[in-house]
Amino acid sequence: MPSEINNLSKLCIHTITTKPWQLEVAVEKYAKAGVKGITVWRDALEGRDIYKSGRIIRSAGLEVVSLCRGGFFPSASAEKRQLAIDDNLKAIDEAAAIGAPLVVLVCGAEPAQPLEKSRSQIKEGIAKVLPQAQKCGVKLAIEPLHPMYADDRSAVNTIKQANDMAEEINSEYVGVAVDVYHLWWDPDLEKEIYRCGENGKLFAFHVCDWKTPTTDLLLDRGLMGEGCINVPQIREWVEKTGFNGFNEVEIFSNKYWGMGQDEFLNKIIQAYLKHT
Ligand code: ZN
Repeated sequence: MPSEINNLSKLCIHTITTKPWQLEVAVEKYAKAGVKGITVWRDALEGRDIYKSGRIIRSAGLEVVSLCRGGFFPSASAEKRQLAIDDNLKAIDEAAAIGAPLVVLVCGAEPAQPLEKSRSQIKEGIAKVLPQAQKCGVKLAIEPLHPMYADDRSAVNTIKQANDMAEEINSEYVGVAVDVYHLWWDPDLEKEIYRCGENGKLFAFHVCDWKTPTTDLLLDRGLMGEGCINVPQIREWVEKTGFNGFNEVEIFSNKYWGMGQDEFLNKIIQAYLKHT
């Protein structure tokens, strides 16, 4: 069993998980509950001084684990591809400003073109923003998304594809984010997690659960233990590679956003301790 199973030292929560809370409230509540890490979604920074937000997080004793999210590189329009590059450069600058060592990439897909073409545009996009990432000391994690999102959210749908792409790009600044929601079904998951870890490319680990039935394919994620994903097993594989980072709770859920967030935070912590 992972040694930290009974404590919160590796627990990180994504701000979007408790979306009804403003950033400052989330920081205060997480810290008080003993959560140690926070992944900041860019919408939580809107209208805020980013440096100051970083200071607020650190002075509460939380570590900024990553900034979510960059990506969305592919488009049939060259102009839109350039806009995506610009936005990713901005995301890298924001990550540096808030003190996040990593930007997670939801790579994107263009339904009007073949997936292969979208993938080559993703690779091109990453290559174009890589110098800025290196300059800022901010790493980039390719997050493979479940194939149900292959039309317009990500043309990278398996950990193997993400590993292939990260290896082709061949930079210590480009790796992979493993999210159990997207990858749990993959018969090659264990093997590809080891491959990712051995290459030093396992940059992030996201947890939640897959509910049956799932009533909304985007906004009905479950708490760990509530669905069919063997989260402790996947965590074990991840940690076997030497991964020593946070377990990041990332839940988009209309159901949970609709309840009192104090109660939800308590449920997250219980689910983390028992089922992660
Ligand atoms: Zn994720």
